[in-house]
Amino acid sequence: MKIIIIGAGMAGLSAARTLTQKGHEVIVLDKSRGVGGRMATRTIENAKADHGAQYFSVKTTEFQSLISELQSDNITAEWHIAQRENVRYIGAKGMNTIPKKMASLLSVFVNEKVVLIENNTVKTESGNIYPFDNLLITMPIPQVIDLFQNSKMILSEKDKSVFSEIEYKPCIAVMAVLKEPTKIVSGGIILENKSVAWIADNFQKGITETPTVTIHASSAYSVKRFDDDIHEVEKDMLSSVNQYINSENIVSSQTHRWRFSNATKRYEAHFYQIENRPIYLAGDGFGIGNVEGAFLSGYYLGNGF
Ligand SMILES: Cc1cc2nc3c(=O)[nH]c(=O)nc-3n(C[C@H](O)[C@H](O)[C@H](O)COP(=O)(O)OP(=O)(O)OC[C@H]3O[C@@H](n4cnc5c(N)ncnc54)[C@H](O)[C@@H]3O)c2cc1C
Repeated sequence: MKIIIIGAGMAGLSAARTLTQKGHEVIVLDKSRGVGGRMATRTIENAKADHGAQYFSVKTTEFQSLISELQSDNITAEWHIAQRENVRYIGAKGMNTIPKKMASLLSVFVNEKVVLIENNTVKTESGNIYPFDNLLITMPIPQVIDLFQNSKMILSEKDKSVFSEIEYKPCIAVMAVLKEPTKIVSGGIILENKSVAWIADNFQKGITETPTVTIHASSAYSVKRFDDDIHEVEKDMLSSVNQYINSENIVSSQTHRWRFSNATKRYEAHFYQIENRPIYLAGDGFGIGNVEGAFLSGYYLGNGF
């Protein structure tokens, strides 16, 4: 059985890993230059900053078994944030080392944006055509809807009602390279500030030798300023965290706009099958959400075959 998976984020890689272990022939396609999706680490000159997911929790035995395996290879590490009681986990050398490690044992093709689904094949922007018996799609639902519309797929009322249950919030992320690390206790702080929700010191986190910080805007601020001039927004966000990061300490900065960051409303099951088609949807829009929810979504979908 040929299975194509769209998306090499946590959900797609988790499904691919489960299916490969069960002996299925699986190909994962991703539009980006690298794997990981929102588990993202950016290199800025010789510095690194996690600018998507910052850390994750491990609540289930299924996810624990992957994390224990990664921990023994020093891919993950524990992170104790002063404002959080329970231990959190990170990629020891950056969040994207986790999906990179998972992908290393799988058949993954990057720079392959799927633009069309037609007669049990997917077509990518580069012109390649991949036949499938089953298709697993793991990107955020608004992007799935765009793909279905391009493919002129007719959906049932049930399909549409499942889609309408899932919502994501945007997040503006500023990354700044610093001269010196910050004095933020434990390297991460959750703020009540109106514009900024979170600051991480990536040096204290242990992922970079050159100090950097990641600053995440609040949901309300991200919604309000998403399409505004990026340099103005960056300046505004940096000035609002001046008490933690003095402007004289900043060497350079970059900003990334995540249109879909966390799924704030989700479909309660771990995955969903499009009615009367061999097409399945998974990702953090299903189940418990976040990194662990994306893992579980892919894991349970993969186990269903
Ligand atoms: C700013 C931010 C902060 C976050 N903080 C946390 C946190 O602290 N803790 C936590 O647990 N979670 C956090 N999250 C959420 C977490 O990152 C996600 O829930 C999880 O990584 C989602 O994984 P996924 O596989 O479902 O989707 P994704 O990681 O989005 O993977 C989908 C993949 O599909 C690919 N794709 C899209 N369209 C196409 C196409 N047409 N063809 C081919 N490929 C395509 C994309 O390139 C992407 O790689 C955060 C996310 C963001 C953005």
